[in-house]
Amino acid sequence: MENLTNIGTIRALLNRHGFTFSKSLGQNFLINPSVCPRMAAAAVDAAHIGVLEIGPGIGVLTNELCKVAEKVVAVELDRRLIPVLGETLGGYDNLTVINADILEIDLQQLIAQQFSGMEVAVCANLPYYITSPVIMRLLESRLPLRSLTVMVQREAAMRLCARPGTRDSSAITIAVRYYSEPELLFPVSAGSFLPAPRVDSAVIRLTLRPPEREPKDERTLFSVVRGAFSQRRKTVLNALSSSLALDKTVVRAILEEAGIDPAARAEQLSVADFVGVADAVYDRSS
Ligand code: SAM
Repeated sequence: MENLTNIGTIRALLNRHGFTFSKSLGQNFLINPSVCPRMAAAAVDAAHIGVLEIGPGIGVLTNELCKVAEKVVAVELDRRLIPVLGETLGGYDNLTVINADILEIDLQQLIAQQFSGMEVAVCANLPYYITSPVIMRLLESRLPLRSLTVMVQREAAMRLCARPGTRDSSAITIAVRYYSEPELLFPVSAGSFLPAPRVDSAVIRLTLRPPEREPKDERTLFSVVRGAFSQRRKTVLNALSSSLALDKTVVRAILEEAGIDPAARAEQLSVADFVGVADAVYDRSS
């Protein structure tokens, strides 16, 4: 097995395959040897875990995952990388590489077919241009997943792992806490990648669990969350009144029923607060 974090080895490998980096596909490959074993250990933290990897690149993280997981399925969009992965990881019999777009592929079917009898964890150095859509797709689709251990830009990590009620809280913070327990695991500097991106990164783990408080209607919950954060500087009263197209007296009554101060800002509200508001909105609309 070649050393896939060695720059000389990577350049020779990529030259052999005539490969050039695609910026639009978020191709920044890991070259810091300490990062991938730590990510693999965080994702595979029990026996009999199958791993779904998104965007294996040349296989540096995949290699570590194959050593510790029962099975690894790696979904890579760039078809030019498939023969590269054949060369770097061809020796593993617990690896399946699929050439597909993670936002298009039927994940329910993939998990049923590939991971029968296993718990499934997602692990990825995510292409940054699709961080939020991928995380939201994985959380919202209620797939039978144990956890997501992912590398994201540092700023995104702060938002994803923020505590509701603090300044970093945003609509995605509420969504993440609704579906999972987030942890900020460790920072990763920009120099850990080839080519180096402009910003630092961090590895986070989202451990999935049932919502602590189920709303009467999930769609109402997320339209209230989006609406409240759509104009962050406004009070929840004003933001919800304009986003839900409801009269202020109606929104004031809804907030009072949910025990929320109408002068509060969205970032001050917890997941349970949002569920309370959404239930009051739902009751009035049904
Ligand atoms: N895992 C490798 C590493 O850590 O060095 C590569 C990570 S690189 C940040 C992101 C990878 O995701 C690239 O290989 C890129 O081609 C792939 N990718 C980009 N968009 C994708 C998509 N929609 N579906 C699947 N893979 C994608």
